[in-house]
Amino acid sequence: MRQLMWFRCDLRVQDNTALSAAMAAGPTLALYLLSPGQWLEHDDAPAKVDFWLRNLAALQAELARLNVPLLIRRADRWDEAPEAVARLCHEHQVSAVHVNEEYGINEAKRDAAVKTRLQADDLRLRSHLDQLLFKPGSVLTKSDSYFQVFSQFRKVCYARLHSALPHAAPLPKKQEPLGIESSAVPATVKGFHSPPASLQALWPAGEEEAGRRLEAFADQQIEHYQDERDFPAHPGTSQLSPYLAAGVLSPRQCLHAALRSNQGEFESGNVGAVTWINELLWREFYKHILVGYPRVSRHRAFRADTEALRWRDAPEDLEAWQQGRTGIPIVDAAMRQLLATGWMHNRLRMVVAMFLTKNLLIDWREGERWFMRHLIDGDLAANNGGWQWSASTGTDAAPYFRIFNPVSQSQRFDPQGVFIRQWLPELASLDKKDIHDPAARGGLFLPEGYPQPMVDLSSSRDRAIAAFRSLPKAVTA
Ligand code: FAD
Repeated sequence: MRQLMWFRCDLRVQDNTALSAAMAAGPTLALYLLSPGQWLEHDDAPAKVDFWLRNLAALQAELARLNVPLLIRRADRWDEAPEAVARLCHEHQVSAVHVNEEYGINEAKRDAAVKTRLQADDLRLRSHLDQLLFKPGSVLTKSDSYFQVFSQFRKVCYARLHSALPHAAPLPKKQEPLGIESSAVPATVKGFHSPPASLQALWPAGEEEAGRRLEAFADQQIEHYQDERDFPAHPGTSQLSPYLAAGVLSPRQCLHAALRSNQGEFESGNVGAVTWINELLWREFYKHILVGYPRVSRHRAFRADTEALRWRDAPEDLEAWQQGRTGIPIVDAAMRQLLATGWMHNRLRMVVAMFLTKNLLIDWREGERWFMRHLIDGDLAANNGGWQWSASTGTDAAPYFRIFNPVSQSQRFDPQGVFIRQWLPELASLDKKDIHDPAARGGLFLPEGYPQPMVDLSSSRDRAIAAFRSLPKAVTA
């Protein structure tokens, strides 16, 4: 009986649970749906869509080695997906469709509708756990609710990992050719421009490249991760997030690479490897939150009472932040890194998010949207989690009164100003003392063309704290 593997954010053949299951069940063909209308609605970035398409071309070549044809169809919005999938099943006498589970509300709705449509024709939709180490709903508190505190969630995850380590799915064996021709993979999709070649060059496509980067990180860098991860001028983090978000790498591959580098230890041995595994669990945590508290998928605050917060409506301030013209060098350098590379260092994501939501008192949803529209690794769960953490509206979030001072963060994490100089050449001539705050000392060192800070850091901090204090007690307690 013929099987259909429907690829979404799982663009690889290695350790792909649904693909292995499909090929074990029978002769398999593969499908990818182009959904530009839905992607626009989800604010997916052109750089991310381009990354998907480039990875799709690489995936097609990998599938060809297994004699699995990849067909590409269009379902502009996901409500067209049930018909598109059913039609393909009939065209090619498919009896079952295999997918790896996805966790946003719209993704879940889409899959439920496809399942119902297929059932009507006596066809099956088989969902597999793949994107995560643990199925959402399987890591719960004693009272059977989803964890809201990361450290408690992590503890249960570690206990589970100790007793049963999730294994990678074996690479399926090559099947007999089906005589079905693959579709051409488009280089672009209407509505999404191609990013500059300089951006594409930073993120080469394909699981071979992703695996090479993972191995290089595990061999050379992971042991220094704990010490170097917070310094944006160093390549101290893995920069694997685009590959994980598009599913070019699996979390199991990452976990096993980290364990190999640490003699199989989770919680002891090299502190770098342990810290990195922790980050993989943050990724896990936010996806569980998305399922357990679906309101965060609908642009609602996790802490409902913070919905009453009186954010400023300040479009010009928002634009200055978006374009990297705030007059705070570390914020501007980070925002320009985002525009030029589609990626931003984690420390700086927190710094710019706190600056927007606290010093500018602009709604976190504006920042979340801007990030999503530009990040090559844009991921609803992690992005929402990161924004709500920074805005103090989220689960296990930063307390509202603990506001990063971006100038101190800059002095601490870019002490020589190397990162700032890379992205703000107009400040390149300033020494390591003045570069963090060129408007200090009466603006004597403020280069022509670089703006004065758009806001006073101290009074804007007070304004944010006052805004949070004015909320009902439940939130600020
Ligand atoms: P590493 O430090 O090497 O970590 C390894 C992997 O763990 C990452 O690739 C990522 O998959 C995961 N991870 C690490 N930190 C986190 C975290 N805090 N939350 C969830 N997963 C994590 N991450 C995204 O993948 N997509 C996003 O859209 C996203 N938006 C963010 C927005 C804000 C405001 C903040 C504060 C964080 C956001 N993050 C997001 C989390 C984090 O910044 C990135 O995952 C990380 O910078 C990616 O770089 P890396 O691959 O070098 O990470």
